[in-house]
Amino acid sequence: MSNLALQQEAKIYFSRELLVWYDEHKRDLPWRRSRNPYHIWISEIMLQQTRVETVIPYFTRFIEKFPTVEALATAPEEEVLKSWEGLGYYSRARNLQAAAQQVVERHEGIVPNTPEEISALKGIGPYTAGAVLSIAYGVPVPAVDGNVMRVLSRYFCLEDDIAKGPTRVKMEVLAKELIPRGRASDFNQALMELGAMVCTPKSPGCLTCPVMKHCEGRMNGMELILPIKTKSKPPRPEHRLLALIEGTGERAGQVLIRQRPSTGLLARMWELPHILADDSKKAGAGADLPDTEAMKRLTHGIHNEGVDIQPLEPWITEEHTFSHIHWTMRVFRCHEAGLQATGQHSEETANDTSSTTPPLEATQGSLKEIDPLEYEQATLELKLSGSTPDSLQKIKKQLQLDDTLIVEHQDAVAEHPEVYQAVPSTLVGEAFAYDYRWITADDMKNYAFPNLFLKILQQHFAK
Ligand code: SF4
Repeated sequence: MSNLALQQEAKIYFSRELLVWYDEHKRDLPWRRSRNPYHIWISEIMLQQTRVETVIPYFTRFIEKFPTVEALATAPEEEVLKSWEGLGYYSRARNLQAAAQQVVERHEGIVPNTPEEISALKGIGPYTAGAVLSIAYGVPVPAVDGNVMRVLSRYFCLEDDIAKGPTRVKMEVLAKELIPRGRASDFNQALMELGAMVCTPKSPGCLTCPVMKHCEGRMNGMELILPIKTKSKPPRPEHRLLALIEGTGERAGQVLIRQRPSTGLLARMWELPHILADDSKKAGAGADLPDTEAMKRLTHGIHNEGVDIQPLEPWITEEHTFSHIHWTMRVFRCHEAGLQATGQHSEETANDTSSTTPPLEATQGSLKEIDPLEYEQATLELKLSGSTPDSLQKIKKQLQLDDTLIVEHQDAVAEHPEVYQAVPSTLVGEAFAYDYRWITADDMKNYAFPNLFLKILQQHFAK
């Protein structure tokens, strides 16, 4: 038999055996109980970078709260983010809602069933488009993510670097060839299931694998070597000082929180006030800062935001890794001191002309710290504004799509080191007026916090 014929036989065998195995072993997952494209879309977005076990309760609650595309499109963003709290990569939630609004406006609330229309929705890349089209509508298109590339690399013994774009394109062509006529939905799910349950990253279960007989990678002893993947850059370390500011007097038992800017990292999420430990961009800066010096900087930095504090003591240190940045957060217990906030919602205080205490925003205007990501985004756009409209659009689209894609944005910054020298004139000296609130433990249910801050607040209120 010729090589070509052998390859063809291996492909037919793979598709056939995989489907037989899937029909018998597929897990009963909530989003598999119907072909509802909205449900499948939500599940696919939630499953990005997140384990199935984690997603199940989130998915169930999300569908109960937002049962239709219209319900999601018209919900307050705060509620959508709150429903996403703990899942991470919050731009997924914001993009999901923006795309739901597009579906309502352009497609009368029905998730589109063509590659062109679905790919035009915010936050939907080739994988999600392929997954929704094939699973919900049976369209014979591939859905290739890292799991699928791992399985295909091993089965066909492919040594292409799966971190490279052209490899994904090659895998998509291969995956499409493998889809049996009329079985796109089951086949794509079967491929994902094999990657999740059997052909796992570190310990592939070859002995129980339904396609073991023709697996080239296993036959060549390469199952633990494949897939080939060049390492991405490690996240940049950043040391930050965080003020857990407890209220006194009538605000005893409350803690001061603030809302992040409307773009960039963790946009519009709520957090505890914090500053860079050192304004240099050197890796590790601030790690060995003595407590007294750290508290001095924290007092000064928070003062620049219009809030006077009295740091009391160092409390805990928390770590959090985003796709491109690693935060080490030293937390200090603080009391308010000469705080000029009234303790009300800032909009309420701003409108309260009877109060002799100025609203919190009125004390702001000298903020020097610019969120590093905001800065980089602004500088990058500044730099790219001189480049072709296509590449600018591409980068902008990437920035809006998903936090994970900021890795590519970081790479783009690295390729243009001069952007660090370009100072974005629109940001320099311009204060960012944070919206502050005093909250109790009970109020936490009304605000969406990233995991890191949620954990600190929970520890604080549990004491
Ligand atoms: S035989 Fe092993 S390496 Fe090959 S596809 Fe199955 S689990 Fe993966």
